Amino acid sequence: MSGAMKTAIAPDALSLIGNTPLVRLSGPSAETGCDILAKCEFMNPGGSVKDRAALYIVEDAEARGLLKPGGTIVEGTAGNTGIGLALVANAKGYRTIIVIPETQSQEKKDTLRALGAELVEVAPTAYSNPAHYVHTSRRIAEETEGGFWSNQFDNTANRLAHIRTTAQEIWAQTGGRIDGFTCACGTGGTLAGVGLGLKEHDEAVTVALTDPYGASLYSYYACGELAAEGHSVAEGIGQSRITANLDGAPVDAQFRIADEDGLRWVHRLLAEQGLHVGLSSGINVAGAVALAKQIGPGKTIVTILCDSGMRYLSTLSNPEWLRAKGLAVPPWLERG
Ligand code: PMP
Repeated sequence: MSGAMKTAIAPDALSLIGNTPLVRLSGPSAETGCDILAKCEFMNPGGSVKDRAALYIVEDAEARGLLKPGGTIVEGTAGNTGIGLALVANAKGYRTIIVIPETQSQEKKDTLRALGAELVEVAPTAYSNPAHYVHTSRRIAEETEGGFWSNQFDNTANRLAHIRTTAQEIWAQTGGRIDGFTCACGTGGTLAGVGLGLKEHDEAVTVALTDPYGASLYSYYACGELAAEGHSVAEGIGQSRITANLDGAPVDAQFRIADEDGLRWVHRLLAEQGLHVGLSSGINVAGAVALAKQIGPGKTIVTILCDSGMRYLSTLSNPEWLRAKGLAVPPWLERG
């Protein structure tokens, strides 16, 4: 299932998934006296960390006989999992139906349509509402001949992808010199999978949750109670329950990061290193800085750059949108 070395000729397109580089983040490292490294998941073929989960979920369903030739993959997603699933489905000859909250970025919706996925847009609602995009996707899968509900939130083939690939790559790339790992959660597959995979090698690696405002996991790991506070515009992260992927996640510490702080890192990575990433990546970097301040200096900390800023040109690079959300407009966008 894992990808081929990118210096060699890949035998097929799906083996381009994974084996992403780690990059040293100069600003965060200088500010903390730690080595802060980031896994460039935006370099996956579908442009996000979710390609890994998509491939594992589909191959696990094939192995279990849940997905038959010519079948239809149905998923509820903020977009990136859908993009990964559509790529994998195209490569393997399946149809894809994606249920997406209408509030997600136009770029992700356009990309899904361009890949041939059938898109069902729904109004955003609470998870307890039967009209929620996750429940809608389950119903569509049940009603579709040959339908397979990939169920990224509670299908643990998702976190297995990160135990078997992302965590192993990080361990090998750092030569085992890693003291901490942190990231935010959508499904929790990345945090739980990388956390479990790293702790297989070294129980002493500190695994930390980085939560946006509006999510309930910070309070769960801090005091055992799911409770949300505030609001975030970050797409793809912000969980309100303990998904099956999060169940048993080895979380040693937790941080809560405001959008303003995440966006400041998005702008700094762009201006200082030419790294153009989305807001969940900026929030992850802010979390890595917080973890470094807690356990550093002199430590090595790894986080995830989940997807590219090109997926959010109509929002994060749009001065009107930023102003409407009360967020900072970087000077280079003020130039018009
Ligand atoms: N960032 C972005 C942009 C995402 O789309 C997602 C997945 N929804 C995540 C982070 C979180 O990944 P995970 O589902 O593994 O928790």
